[in-house]
Amino acid sequence: MPHAPIVILSEETARRIAAGEVIDRPAAVLRELLDNALDAGAAEITCSLEEGGNARIRVVDDGSGIAADDLGRCALPHATSKIHDLEDMDRLSTLGFRGEALASIAACARLEISSARAGAASGQRLLVEGGKRLALDPHPPRPGTIVDVSRIFFNMPARRRFLKRPQTETALCKATFIEKALAFPNVALRLFSDDELVLYLPPAPLRDRIALAHGGTFPLEFLEEASANGPGFRLTAICARPEAARTDRKYLQIFCNRRRIFEFSLLQAVEYGYTGFLPGGLKPIAFVFAEVDSSLVDFNIHPAKREARFRNLPDLHRALSVLVKGLLSKSVPEALRTARGAADDSGRSPAQPSGGGATLFPDFGSHRRFGGSRIGDRPGLRGDILDAFHRAKNEAERPERAPAGEGAAGGLRYLGQLWRVYLAAAGRDELILVDQHAAHERILFDELEKKPRAVQPLAVPLAFDLEEDEREALLPGREALARLGFELKATGRACEVSALPALLSGVPEADVIAFLKSARGTFEELERRVLAQAACRAAVKAGDELDPVSAEELLTRALALPDPRCPHGRPVVRRFPRQELDKIFQRIV
Ligand code: ADP
Ligand code: MG
Repeated sequence: MPHAPIVILSEETARRIAAGEVIDRPAAVLRELLDNALDAGAAEITCSLEEGGNARIRVVDDGSGIAADDLGRCALPHATSKIHDLEDMDRLSTLGFRGEALASIAACARLEISSARAGAASGQRLLVEGGKRLALDPHPPRPGTIVDVSRIFFNMPARRRFLKRPQTETALCKATFIEKALAFPNVALRLFSDDELVLYLPPAPLRDRIALAHGGTFPLEFLEEASANGPGFRLTAICARPEAARTDRKYLQIFCNRRRIFEFSLLQAVEYGYTGFLPGGLKPIAFVFAEVDSSLVDFNIHPAKREARFRNLPDLHRALSVLVKGLLSKSVPEALRTARGAADDSGRSPAQPSGGGATLFPDFGSHRRFGGSRIGDRPGLRGDILDAFHRAKNEAERPERAPAGEGAAGGLRYLGQLWRVYLAAAGRDELILVDQHAAHERILFDELEKKPRAVQPLAVPLAFDLEEDEREALLPGREALARLGFELKATGRACEVSALPALLSGVPEADVIAFLKSARGTFEELERRVLAQAACRAAVKAGDELDPVSAEELLTRALALPDPRCPHGRPVVRRFPRQELDKIFQRIV
């Protein structure tokens, strides 16, 4: 670049550049106008977009209104009624404080504000365009404020060109609208787009608002709520049950003092709380609302206040992950109980028992006669499971336990097997899919966990070679392996196994060797892996055909699981609420 002398930018140029930092697209205008209406204590706010805000954004509120004297000043740079000096920042209770939003909008668009305070004899209207005041005149005294923004970026052609199609800008505006709506569940909000009502959110409890705002994406029944207090803060978490997880963090949202923030450490705290509840790669759906003492948090570090700096971040992080984990451990079984209870008085099972068979499951309190079970016929099933199987068969054949026609699946209607992978059932208000392998695996795992452990000596020892690093990895775990029932002799590279945990007796040799070569961890971790191996081995596989009676039974047992994940963390059950289906088919309900 050739040498050029330094110049001082004109105030107008500087203002436009600064405006661009706050206002980059229609959604930013909407955000600022909503913030102002909320700061003004509005109980009802209506937003209207034309062409996604590219043509017009209008926000009408019933808040405090702007006094006649103030209206002429409110769109000047650094004009705010919310703070007077820096000390006030420590007591901040409003969303705004910089006094920049209206000035920025005025600098890059046409801004019209009509406002009156309650009881005022007259209202006023201000019109500013490109930073120049065009009018300030009387207006009917309607209490509250109407802000109308049009011609956005008319004087910034580069920015204007970056505006997206109206649908895209509408979607961005809607996301902003929802963000604000979640932070203020007591405020009634309406969003119109080109005269069509997109969303109406009446005042509602937080959980209901989240469900309603997202139009059934994750219905109320999926959401659990819990709160906790700490020094200088209060946390409320609304977490979706693990079955509703996603592959992205779209619905993993953190709010602090009613602002959405992007604080990685807190997002991580939520994910941490979900570990063990979600298979790897999935992200939870969770909304966290933190109220943090304003002296412990600084929002003055990002023009759009998307970031905050905390003085007590480690405290918040810890409290949040504990809260989420506690909520999930408590609510996952509870939620299932609720779902079963709701289904209890509904449909009957059409599947007829084929009579006089047996069940794999020992103490299943079903009220029907069990039919022949192919699950039980699987080769490789362990003796103790088969014993249980015969006990259950005898139980089931006692006449008082077999009232005719009772739905085995607790009022759910079994629909069939899909691709020999999933079992489908209809409840009163939901479609349910169960992963047959994951479900059976989990059920067996839970049963095996309760059984006493036995050791299986091997007539022919299992011998294999160890690489140097494998040997080093194996040796520290020998004590834990011995407690599990492994008898190992490692001499040089050679390793010989003369006894195994009985649970692994049906498992292929190669799997046992692979297990030993990677046998790192505590006794509990290793034990868990042994149980998981045994359960996986014995469980029905994807591809196995199940007769209706066995399938119903598996389904019922799966739905009663207190923790419906397979031992590897995959979900066992997925529910599709009718509401969601109705939405897909655009039924008016
Ligand atoms: P800030 O919100 O940071 O104070 P703004 O530029 O957004 O700055 O608004 C400037 C001032 O205009 C506010 O401090 C407030 O006094 C007034 N104001 C703006 N919008 C409204 C509204 N909808 N209702 C009442 N007062 C408003
Ligand atoms: Mg503001």
